[in-house]
Amino acid sequence: MSDAHAVVVGGGIGGLSAALALHRQGWRVTVLERAPELREVGAGLSLMANAVRALDALGLGPTVRRGGHGEAPGGIRNRHGRWLSRVDATEMVRQLGTTALGVHRATLHRTLREALPASSLHTSATVEHVESDPERASVRYRTPNGSRTLTADLVVGADGLRSRVRAQLWPQHPGPVYAGSTAWRAAIAFADPVPAAITWGPGAEFGMVPIGDGQLYWYAALNAPPGGHAPDELAAVRERFGDWHDPIPALLAATPPGVVLRNDIHHLAAPLPS
Ligand SMILES: Cc1cc2nc3c(=O)[nH]c(=O)nc-3n(C[C@H](O)[C@H](O)[C@H](O)COP(=O)(O)OP(=O)(O)OC[C@H]3O[C@@H](n4cnc5c(N)ncnc54)[C@H](O)[C@@H]3O)c2cc1C
Repeated sequence: MSDAHAVVVGGGIGGLSAALALHRQGWRVTVLERAPELREVGAGLSLMANAVRALDALGLGPTVRRGGHGEAPGGIRNRHGRWLSRVDATEMVRQLGTTALGVHRATLHRTLREALPASSLHTSATVEHVESDPERASVRYRTPNGSRTLTADLVVGADGLRSRVRAQLWPQHPGPVYAGSTAWRAAIAFADPVPAAITWGPGAEFGMVPIGDGQLYWYAALNAPPGGHAPDELAAVRERFGDWHDPIPALLAATPPGVVLRNDIHHLAAPLPS
């Protein structure tokens, strides 16, 4: 496939991973990203064993492991701290070949970006229309200097939750819907050893994941109507989760104001027809 050209719409973790896989297979790849700069914001990520294996297949496993934190045996607790189930890391490695991994989103994104030829990455490029016939596709996109079109043998729609490519290919699909919960998250400095673990309470969940380099990622999810905002989001988390088991109060106490992100969770409730 040496002269085959793939256009990847979206330079998030999904788009960059797909672009790298295609590049490693000899495709010429163009990534079109609407943001003016290619960078991942956000907090941490828990990479499950299948994701770590995918990164191994892309040749990035060692780099990502160095930049993250192999998840120590954790599991699920109740809000008083009693373990409801434990993860057997030895068994996980025996069956899946790796543990899960905690990593900062920005670290993973940078690792993927640096593995791709810089010339394949185009920012300030907003895809507006994809036209496909059985032979070739064309992708029209907007740049600060006007509209451009690329032809491609393959178009990868990796333009996220509200994908324009998906909406164009499946115009009847209802698109993402609110999943019923809102989530706060933060990456903080926290060097004490903490297992990667989830805590369940009534209509609520708290997760903690060490992500390497003395950093820890926590998230708190709560069943709630959509669109809610608090004047001080950290105070809202403390109010709801501050009396849960250790080290949750300590994690919230170590969180500086202003680093807490809040997002309502949306998902594709209806599967795509193909
Ligand atoms: C609170 C929360 C916690 C999560 N925790 C985890 C976790 O622990 N582990 C895990 O594996 N997953 C987690 N996820 C899910 C994970 O974040 C997503 O699955 C993943 O980030 C999706 O990546 P993506 O590249 O598909 O999309 P995105 O990251 O949304 O990237 C899409 C990109 O496309 C660009 N784009 C959009 N439209 C256009 C256009 N028309 N033209 C050009 N570019 C365009 C956007 O600017 C963006 O850069 C979490 C999600 C949330 C909300």
